[in-house]
Amino acid sequence: MERDPHQLIEGMAVGAYAIGSTEMYIFCRGEFAYAARQLERAAAEAYEAGILGKNIMGSGYDLDLIIHRGAGAYICGEETALLEAIEGRRGQPRLRPPFPATHGLFSKPTVVNNVETFACVPHIITNGADWFKGFGTEKSPGTKMFCLSGDVERPGNYEVPFGTPARDLIEGFAGGVKGGKKLKAFTPGGASSTQFFGPDKLDTNMDWESVMAAGSLLGTGAIIVFAEDVCMVRAALRYTRFYAHESCGKCTPCREGTYWMVNTLERFENGQGREEDIAIMNDVAGNIIGRSFCALGDFSIAPVTSTTKLFADEYRQHIAKGGCPFDR
Ligand code: SF4
Repeated sequence: MERDPHQLIEGMAVGAYAIGSTEMYIFCRGEFAYAARQLERAAAEAYEAGILGKNIMGSGYDLDLIIHRGAGAYICGEETALLEAIEGRRGQPRLRPPFPATHGLFSKPTVVNNVETFACVPHIITNGADWFKGFGTEKSPGTKMFCLSGDVERPGNYEVPFGTPARDLIEGFAGGVKGGKKLKAFTPGGASSTQFFGPDKLDTNMDWESVMAAGSLLGTGAIIVFAEDVCMVRAALRYTRFYAHESCGKCTPCREGTYWMVNTLERFENGQGREEDIAIMNDVAGNIIGRSFCALGDFSIAPVTSTTKLFADEYRQHIAKGGCPFDR
């Protein structure tokens, strides 16, 4: 969106033409002001060039693009909350069915896709599906944008074929763990990866099927790297605080459950954690997953369930020391 906004607009225009739509929307999170400005500029260029608007290139086909800036709610990444927000309401998920494909924006049939998907379309149309399938694996064809962040020398976005090993991304593209430290853990698909990975999973191929076989989810492809000196209890607390803050509050398991997980994690950090709190947090997590209205609730438990499974010894160190034994 920031560096090649026309790629996205072109992909969406192809998609709109394919389904016979005359309107398309880009929902851009409010914080991403630069991306929104770039998109607005690109849209103006496309209108001026006759690629958008009335009677596109003399084809008789009309297509308009509306760029809608959100107000900064993470939940608006959920497709029905996104539709609510565009319609001018509070961004909260809708009950499904009906699904957006039949009753979407303003109750019209709507295709909702992410930016990464649409950005692939111009290249597939230009080079053909077989060319695209030449990258990646049989079940995960094409390329994926991985976002490397955390304790790495060169954080950033790297587009690589599906199936590239996590080691190549972390140690190769991102230059390894910052300061030459050892790797403690990484998320294969963002904070909501159902299971964080330890160094033993560095050779996992980063495609949908391999990450799932290794016990987690590829999710957004956000690889967050933790060095050996990071406190995983504090990391879990920060993530869970984020989910508690971003919970839209519509359903009780997510709204209350994230709050109680934060409270309990804070107790560990403040030196009041108890052995039974590990089981209590997992019990709360078990009452969120599968009982929440949307995926945010289900995913919000990952930091707790992952770290209590992989790093239970760190929770016990907090209990024994009466506080956090780590500097960061
Ligand atoms: Fe809102 Fe969380 Fe329920 Fe989703 S799971 S509807 S974010 S309260």
